[in-house]
Amino acid sequence: MNLAVHAPSSSCEQTHCGAHDVDEPREGVFKVCLECGHAFATPSDLLAAYNSERRRMAEAELDGPDGTDYGTPALVPVTDVRQVEFCPCCAHDF
Ligand SMILES: [Zn+2]
Ligand SMILES: [Zn+2]
Ligand SMILES: [Zn+2]
Repeated sequence: MNLAVHAPSSSCEQTHCGAHDVDEPREGVFKVCLECGHAFATPSDLLAAYNSERRRMAEAELDGPDGTDYGTPALVPVTDVRQVEFCPCCAHDF
């Protein structure tokens, strides 16, 4: 496994994460995204990444086109991994 940022090569295509350009574990992890190859080690890792990405997207939507910050949207964090609808790394639908 190569944790340094690198371009994907044929020797690591099975483990390469396209979201972070590092090689990530494929075994003993909770979920691997089929699109970008990111490995979520545990359900709480996936939930944390998903909730922070949803918050980032909601805040970007709320801000004005001139960059005015209209505050933080009221977002209820997802607490069940079955409610996770897309990969927080590449937005691919699960
Ligand atoms: Zn790689
Ligand atoms: Zn992904
Ligand atoms: Zn990754």
